[in-house]
Amino acid sequence: MHDGITLVNVSKRFTGADEPAVRDVHLSVEPGEIVALLGPSGCGKTTTLRLIAGFERPDEGHVIIAGNQVAGPHGFISPDKRGVGMVFQDYALFPHLTVSDNIAFGIGRLPRQEKRERIDELLELTGLGALAERFPHQLSGGQQQRVAMARALGPKPHVLLLDEPFSNLDTEMRLAMRIEVRDLLKSLGTTAILVTHDQQEAMTVADRMAVMLHGRVEQIDVPEIVYHYPATRAVANFVGQGTFVPATIAGAIAESDLGRFELEEQGAQVHVDLLIRPRDVSLEVDPDGIAVIVSRTFHGAETTYVIQLPCGVQLQSNQPSYVSISPGARVRVRCNRVRLAAYDADSRVALTAPPRLGPMSLGTPVALDGIDAAARS
Ligand code: ADP
Ligand code: MG
Repeated sequence: MHDGITLVNVSKRFTGADEPAVRDVHLSVEPGEIVALLGPSGCGKTTTLRLIAGFERPDEGHVIIAGNQVAGPHGFISPDKRGVGMVFQDYALFPHLTVSDNIAFGIGRLPRQEKRERIDELLELTGLGALAERFPHQLSGGQQQRVAMARALGPKPHVLLLDEPFSNLDTEMRLAMRIEVRDLLKSLGTTAILVTHDQQEAMTVADRMAVMLHGRVEQIDVPEIVYHYPATRAVANFVGQGTFVPATIAGAIAESDLGRFELEEQGAQVHVDLLIRPRDVSLEVDPDGIAVIVSRTFHGAETTYVIQLPCGVQLQSNQPSYVSISPGARVRVRCNRVRLAAYDADSRVALTAPPRLGPMSLGTPVALDGIDAAARS
């Protein structure tokens, strides 16, 4: 059984809306994989989940779950027959039912003994054994979330869809539940899509993350690649912090205030912007340095500096906080990265690497400073 999810060319526009909520989405989730759908509010995440679950019909394209086309030119399968489990932000538990009975509701029809065993198994799995006879209002947020998970997993769905499941929890509980939910899904080998607007959450829970902007999936890849090698400027802007530092191209060399880099593939551009993340550079106080510290903000573990570069750009950089450099000091800025992402006017990626490393091919998401897809499993 192939418990994956595939969306091909899926579009959805609501009646009366000017713009489609979901545009030409291609998305493929492997069996047992957790994919996070990350994007700002209103970008179409919930609509995408509802299209997969069958609460909405696509205008175009098709949806395949576990090898069966559930929506598309060959018909439409109703939500209850898709083998899809859902966990919502508000958990949607039945307030008048105990934990056990909430879970029993999810399982549906089964012979009495089998059902009892399944409930016990789910209580055990989610660590709710001692709370089986409590009602939802007698549970903490994290415990309610476990009940919602157990109820959704009860019928052994092909896939589990989670829509902002952690947003009602306080910070500490949220961090703990991310790990707990990931471990649970991994131990069961459940295929899952987690919708979130929180990038940290996407990065900690998911095997791969899909960045959705204005109804489109702009990039889908392991979090390390999305963060360090965003497919477009828009993804670079949405995910993480960073500064674009201009570079001028001459032949195969990109010249910038952070030094010279070699283009991995030559294009026609004369100008690119290098994406510099806060930890991508180190600073060294040097009276002959070309950069000047504008401001310093201490955060505890790290200190954030804003650095004026001669090109006019103010670079933001996080440094270990045990070193402190005063505003006004001249510094030398060194790039720590072996590879960088850069963008031309059309938002296309042009990779750069320092001289001596030799060319690497454009668009091959292999090792990035030693990070590669295989490192995450
Ligand atoms: P997200 O979950 O990413 O915040 P949604 O998928 O809920 O975004 O919404 C995407 C867009 O579609 C928004 O502009 C929203 O207002 C619109 N939308 C969502 N549901 C409906 C609906 N039932 N009718 C009309 N417009 C809708
Ligand atoms: Mg939503």
